[in-house]
Amino acid sequence: MTSQKVREQFLNFFKSKEHKIVQSAPMVMKNDPTLMFTNAGMNQFKEFFLGNSVVRSKRVTDTQKCLRVSGKHNDLEEVGKDTYHHTMFEMLGNWSFGDYFKKEAIQWAWELLTEVYGIDKDSLYVSVFEGSDDADNLKMDQEAYDLWKAIVPEDRIIMGNKKDNFWEMGDQGPCGPCSEIHVDIRSKEEKSKVSGASLVNQDHPLVVEIWNLVFMQYNRKANGQLEDLPNKHIDTGMGFERLCMVLQDVQSNYDTDVFTPLIREIETITNAKYGKEEDVDIAIRVIADHVRAVAFSIADGQLPSNTGAGYVIRRILRRAIRYGFTFLNINKPFIYRLVKVLGESMGKAFPELKQQYQLIENVIKEEENSFLSTLEQGLILLDSVIKTSKDKTIDGSKAFELYDTFGFPIDLTALILEEKGYELDVDGFEKALKAQKDRSRAASETSKEDWTILSEDAEQEFIGYDSLEANVKLVKYRKVTSKKDGDQYQLVFNLTPFYAEGGGQVGDKGYLEATNGDVTYITDTKKENNEIVHFSENLPKDVSGTFKASVDKKQRWRTASNHTATHLLHQALREVLGNHVEQKGSAVHSKYLRFDFSHFSKLTVEELRAVENFVNARIEGQLPLEENRNIAIKDAMAEGAMALFGEKYGDTVRTVRFGQSIELCGGTHVKNTGDIWHFKITSEGAVAAGIRRIEAITSDAVKDFYFKNNRALFEIRDLLNNTKEPVKAVVALQDENIQLKKQVESLLKDKAKGLKTDLLNELTTVNGVKFLAKKVDIDAGGIKDLSFEIGSNKQDLFLLLASEKDGKAILSCYISKELAFERNLNAGTIVRELGKYIQGGGGGQPFFATAGGKNPAGIPEALEAVKAYLK
Ligand code: ATP
Ligand code: MG
Repeated sequence: MTSQKVREQFLNFFKSKEHKIVQSAPMVMKNDPTLMFTNAGMNQFKEFFLGNSVVRSKRVTDTQKCLRVSGKHNDLEEVGKDTYHHTMFEMLGNWSFGDYFKKEAIQWAWELLTEVYGIDKDSLYVSVFEGSDDADNLKMDQEAYDLWKAIVPEDRIIMGNKKDNFWEMGDQGPCGPCSEIHVDIRSKEEKSKVSGASLVNQDHPLVVEIWNLVFMQYNRKANGQLEDLPNKHIDTGMGFERLCMVLQDVQSNYDTDVFTPLIREIETITNAKYGKEEDVDIAIRVIADHVRAVAFSIADGQLPSNTGAGYVIRRILRRAIRYGFTFLNINKPFIYRLVKVLGESMGKAFPELKQQYQLIENVIKEEENSFLSTLEQGLILLDSVIKTSKDKTIDGSKAFELYDTFGFPIDLTALILEEKGYELDVDGFEKALKAQKDRSRAASETSKEDWTILSEDAEQEFIGYDSLEANVKLVKYRKVTSKKDGDQYQLVFNLTPFYAEGGGQVGDKGYLEATNGDVTYITDTKKENNEIVHFSENLPKDVSGTFKASVDKKQRWRTASNHTATHLLHQALREVLGNHVEQKGSAVHSKYLRFDFSHFSKLTVEELRAVENFVNARIEGQLPLEENRNIAIKDAMAEGAMALFGEKYGDTVRTVRFGQSIELCGGTHVKNTGDIWHFKITSEGAVAAGIRRIEAITSDAVKDFYFKNNRALFEIRDLLNNTKEPVKAVVALQDENIQLKKQVESLLKDKAKGLKTDLLNELTTVNGVKFLAKKVDIDAGGIKDLSFEIGSNKQDLFLLLASEKDGKAILSCYISKELAFERNLNAGTIVRELGKYIQGGGGGQPFFATAGGKNPAGIPEALEAVKAYLK
C-alpha cells in the first residue's frame, strides 16, 4: 500500500465515524510562548482541552506535521542512528473534544489497524497505565484494561509506568493516562525465540510503538498538582512513517516509499551506496530525514537564522551537511537538490512545498555554501591549534571557541584530532558548554504562578476593532517572574479593547482606571492558548472592582497605519515585481513596519519609487476599510483574499479589504487609507537567499523623517555659505578634495625620497652593523615602507626609527633577516623592551616590529638604549 493511500485511508476511516477532516497546523509555532514547534497533533487543539475556546466540531481527524528537536520532546540525536525516529514526522490523529471517550477510541483504533489495514492481530501489543505511588498518587487505568480485555488476550496487555503511559505535553498543561499500541515486525523465527511482550518499550527497532491513545482528563498546574479538566477528551497520535513501515512489510521507516526516493537521489548525487556500511547508512538517513524538516520549516515561513526557532533549523541543516561532509566526502552544496524529489512524494498532501520550490532550494543552497566555508576555515584554525599545542591533548576551551564562534562541530573536531593522533579534552569542552548554557538559561528563566480565578465566566470578548475603551472586570490574574523582565502581572478580563500581539502586529499598550482614580499601566498584550493576556508591572489594588480600560490611542493609530500600509505594500510589490512575491514575514510596530518577501534580486531605485508611488496613490485615493469578520474561508479565497503559508486559519476568517487589496487578517487597521497620511520606504536589503526586506514608515513618523532631513539640508546649506545648489557645491568640494589628496601624496613621496637619502647618509657602522637610531617626521606606515626600502638590498642593517603623532610615540625596529638570524636578534623582543621608555608596548616579527606608547618624551632615551643590542 503506498504511503499516499495509507494517509487517505486513515482520514477516510475517521470521516466514516463522523469526524471532520482538518488541515495540519503549521509546524512552526507562532505566538505560543510555551512551544517553538508543533511536537504533537494535540498542540493546535490545546485551547479546546483547556476549555478556553468554544468547540465547533467535537470530532476531528488530521495528519499533523510534527518536529521533535527541542524542549520536552527532542529526538534529534537518535535520528539517523535508529530507523524509526525522525526529526519531522507526520502524526495521524483522531480527536474527541468532550465527546466520545476511551471505549470508542480503543475500539476504533483496533478496527482500523486489524480490519481496514489488515495488520496481523498476533503482532500487536497494547499497554495500560499501571498507576503511580508518587505525589500524584494515581490509580491504575482499570477502565482501559477492561476495554482491551474484551478485544485482545490478556497476555498481550502490558502494564506501563508513568514515563510511558501518562502523557504530558510539557511541564504544565493538559495530560492524562494513555494506552499505546506496539507492533512486533520481527521474523517468525525471532518471534519464537523471544516473546514480543518482553521487548515492548525496550528500544527494540522491530518492536515499536505505533499509536498512542491519550485519555485527557487532567491539567498539570504550575505548582505540580493535577486538577480535573472541565471535560474529558481523546487525543490520539500514530506515527505515519512507522505505520507505512508495517504496512509495506519492511523493517525500517527508511525502506518505505516515504524515504526511498530521497535515498536513491542521495546515492545518485554522492555516489554513496545505502546498505553497505553503517557510517554511510547513518549519514544517508540523517540527510534524508533532515531535508524534510528543513524544507517544511522554510515552507512554513521559518528561515534558518541565528536565534530561536531559526537557529534550531540552522542546526538541523548543519547536522546534515556535516554528515555529508564527513562520511560521504561531499564538499559542495547538494542537499538543496533533494527538494524536488521531496515535493514529488509529499507535494500532493502538502502543497506549500511545491509552491515554494525555488525559495526553499535557494535558502538551503546558500546555507550549505556558507557552512561548508565555515568548515573549511575551521579546519585551518584547528590545524593551527594543533601546531601550537604543547602536548597531545587539545584544550577543551579551544575546541569550545571553535564550536561557539565559528560553528565548528565538536564531533568533527574530535574526529580530526583522532585521525592526527591527538586527543580532545572533552571535560574542558563540556564545562565551557555548560557554563554557556547556564548563562543563557538563567537569562531566560521564568516562573509562573497558578492563575487566581475571580470568575468562572470563560467567555472573553475582544471589542478592539470598534472601540478603544471599555468597562471591564478581571476574570483571573497571576504573577510571572523572569530574569529579563522582573516581576510582572498577567491579567485576563471579561472583555477587552486591547489587541493582543499577533499576525506580526505588536500588542496594544494603555491603562486601567479604577473607580477611585487609581491607574494601572498595561505595558503589553499577548495571546496564550487563545486567551488575551494583559501585562502590567503591578496589580490593581482592588482586583474585584470595575475598571475603565483605555488603549493608547496614538500608538494604536500609528500601528494601524503601519498595518494597513503593509497590506498596500504587499499589493504594490506583486503589482510592480510580479506574482512570485510571497509574504515571508512582517513586523508591524508603532514606529515602523518591516516586510519580508520572496524576490530574487535587489530592487532598483525605479522599482522602489514605483512601489512607493503605488502605495501613496492608494493613500491619496482615500479607500475605506471594508471588513468581513465572519466569512467562510473558501468564500474569502474565492473573493481573491491572500492567505499566507505557515499561518493557521479556522473555517471562518476575517477579511480586510482596501480597494483591490484583500487579505485574511486579524489585525487592526485605519478606517480609511487617507488616515495613513504618507508612506515612505526607509531601507531595502537582503535577509537570505531569495528573500528581501523592506522597512518603511507612515503617519507622523514620515513627518518627523522629512523634518529631520530638511533640517540637515538647511545645516548643510549653511555650511556651504547658503548656496542655493548644495549638491553642486558638495560635488565641487569632493573634486577639490581629490585634487588636494593627489598633491599631498606626491609631496609626501618627495619628502620620503629626500628622507631616504638623508637616512642613508647618516648610517654608521657599529660592530660590523649598518646602524641608525633616529626620530623622523612621518607616520607609522611611511616608516615601514621606508625601512623596507632601505633594507631591500642590505644584509646587515639595524634601524630604529621613532615618530610622534597626536601625543603618542611610535618605535619601529627593522633588522635584516640575515643579521637577525646570525646574531640572534629579535625586533619583536627589542621593541617590547624599549617600550618601557615610551610607556607602552608592542611586538611583531623578528625582523620588523613596532611599539606604541603614550610618552613621546621617552623617545631620546629609547634611541640611546637601543645601542646596547649591538654590543
Ligand atoms: P517513542 O517512545 O517511540 O519515542 P513516544 O512515546 O515519544 O514514542 P508519542 O509522544 O506517544 O511517542 O507520539 C505518538 C506516536 O508518534 C508514536 O506512537 C510514534 O508512532 C510516533 N512518533 C513519536 N516520535 C516520533 C519520531 N521522533 N519519529 C517518528 N514517529 C514518532
Ligand atoms: Mg519519544
